[in-house]
Amino acid sequence: MANIKAAGVDPADIEAVLLTHMHPDHSAGLTDMATGRRNFPNAELVVHENEPRHWFDDAKMAGATERARKLYFQCVREQTAPYRDRMRLFKEGEIFPGVTATPRHGHTPGHMTFMIGCSSGEKGCSSSRSCCSIRLQVGSHSFSRGSLSEQWMVLY
Ligand SMILES: [Zn+2]
Repeated sequence: MANIKAAGVDPADIEAVLLTHMHPDHSAGLTDMATGRRNFPNAELVVHENEPRHWFDDAKMAGATERARKLYFQCVREQTAPYRDRMRLFKEGEIFPGVTATPRHGHTPGHMTFMIGCSSGEKGCSSSRSCCSIRLQVGSHSFSRGSLSEQWMVLY
């Protein structure tokens, strides 16, 4: 959160958090565990439908090792609980204008790759066009671009 604020981004301005999958190195940080409040109070959580189906399956959690129960299942449940009423699930395809999701299941049941680019394909997109003004947070790495001159960026 400190890095997001230091970058000049107000977490309340973030409208969507898109996860490739729900492992803790991607989902931890969604919620302030001291208060139980969303760190992104106005964001929807966007994730493949297999992810919550897997991580909220009590039978799968009971069959996991103790380490996996605590590190994965419990962490996902705690971090995403405040977003349960604002979780948008998808399968694949264009999930936002210019953002296309492709299944890469295996690492987790709903692991995805996202291709991000200008859906219009226009050259010289200005930063005023929402499809070309993108600021990304991927795990602990952030990428900021006022304009995407390349057509696509691929995230894993
Ligand atoms: Zn992972």
